Amino acid sequence: MKIHEFQAKEILKKYNVPVQDGIAVKDLSEVDNAISQLQQRGINQFVVKSQIHAGGRGKGKLYNPENKNELVLEGGVKFTTSVEKAKEYAQKIFGNILVTHQTGPDGKKVKTLFIAEGLDYKKELYLGILLDRAVSKNVIMASTEGGVEIEKVAAETPEKIIKAWIDPLIGLQPYQARELAFSLGLENNSFKNFVKFISVLYKAYTETDSSLLEINPLVITNDDRVVALDAKMNFDDNALYRQKEIADFRDLDEEDPLEIEASKFNLNYIKLDGNVGCMVNGAGLAMATMDIIKLAGGEPANFLDVGGGANKTTVANGFKIILFDPNVKAILINIFGGIVRCDRVAQGVIDAANEMQVRVPIVIRLEGTNAKEAADLLNESGLNFEVAESLKDAAEKVTSVLNN
Ligand code: GDP
Ligand code: MG
Repeated sequence: MKIHEFQAKEILKKYNVPVQDGIAVKDLSEVDNAISQLQQRGINQFVVKSQIHAGGRGKGKLYNPENKNELVLEGGVKFTTSVEKAKEYAQKIFGNILVTHQTGPDGKKVKTLFIAEGLDYKKELYLGILLDRAVSKNVIMASTEGGVEIEKVAAETPEKIIKAWIDPLIGLQPYQARELAFSLGLENNSFKNFVKFISVLYKAYTETDSSLLEINPLVITNDDRVVALDAKMNFDDNALYRQKEIADFRDLDEEDPLEIEASKFNLNYIKLDGNVGCMVNGAGLAMATMDIIKLAGGEPANFLDVGGGANKTTVANGFKIILFDPNVKAILINIFGGIVRCDRVAQGVIDAANEMQVRVPIVIRLEGTNAKEAADLLNESGLNFEVAESLKDAAEKVTSVLNN
C-alpha cells in the first residue's frame, strides 16, 4: 500500500525523524489558516506541495480539469518567500490535474495540499531503504546526487549510489551508519546528525512493516541539520492487519477502481494496459499465461490469480472484473483443476457469462480434475467459448481471435 508524503511525514515524526514541518489541507478555505499557523511557528518561507501518490511532482504540470489542454502551472511543488504567492500557488494547484512522468498522460487530481516550511539548504542527498530480494536483506541506498533525477543517476552512473546491506538478525550497526555518512562526504555536525537520522529512519522502516522508504531529497541545511524534505513510504499489504493506523491512511482515490473492486473479493488483480484479459489460478501459472499472451502477439490487460482454492463465486467475480475493463478485446481463462474441480469452474464462468453482456471472444483451457465434464458443459452452454486443449492450443486460439 502507498500513502501520501504528508502521511509519511506524520509517521516519521513519531519516530523522531527530522522532517520539514507543514500542514495538510483538504480544502482551499483552510489555506489561510494553515499559513498563519506556520507563521506563528516562526516560518516565513513556504513550499506548496501537491499530494498525489505518484512521484516527479516537482517537474510535473498542472492542467485545468475542464479543459485538459489549458496549462495552469508548471511544477507541482512551489517554493516562495511571499505569503501572497503561497496562496496563489495553492489556488493554482488545488483541484487541478497534475501530470508527472509517473502518472501517465491522464494525470491525477490534486485533492490535498501540504503547505510546508520552505527550507534553505546546502546539499541535496538521496536516501532509500528497501528489501533486496536477491539476498533477503534490507538494503540502504544513499547518494550525493539527490533531488529530482535519481533514476537517471541509477541508470547512467550507478557507482554514485552507495549501498549497505543490513543483517536481519542484528539490525543496522553503528559502523554502517558512520560508513554511509563518510561516503556521502559529511563532516562534523552533519555527520553526527546523519548517523542519528539513519538509525531512527531504519527503526521507522522496520517497525511499520515498510517495503520502501525513500527520502529524496534528504537535505543538509545551512546550520547542518539533516532533514527529510520529501518522504515516500510503501507498506507490505500482508502486514497491514497489525498496522491499523497505517491501514487507515489508504486513499482509494489514488487506486485503480478495478483493483479496489477486486480487493473486495480477495482477488489478486493488477490492472495492466493490454487488450487480453486473463484469469488463472496460481501466480506462477498466471505469469506463464501472460507470457503466452505476449507470444501470441497480444498484451495482457491484467494479472489475475484467483487462487488455488478458487470456487464458482471467485471465478464469477474475477470474470466480471475483467469484463469491466473497456480495453479487453479477448479473454483467456487458464485453470488447473487440482483442488478445484474444472466442471465447477466452467459452471461459474457460464453463470457469470449469462449474467453479463459478454462482448469479446473467450478462450478457455481447463486441465485436471473433471476437465472432460467441464469441456462438455462449455460446449453445450450455447455461449461463444473456444475450448482449448493445451497451453499451445490456447495461445494459438488467442492469436487467431486477436487477428480476426
Ligand atoms: P517530487 O518532485 O515529487 O519528488 O517532490 P519533492 O518533495 O522532492 O520536491 C521537489 C523539489 O522541490 C525538491 O527536489 C526541491 O528541489 C524542491 N523543494 C521542495 N521543498 C523545498 C524547500 O523547502 N526549499 C527549497 N529550496 N526547495 C524545495
Ligand atoms: Mg522527491
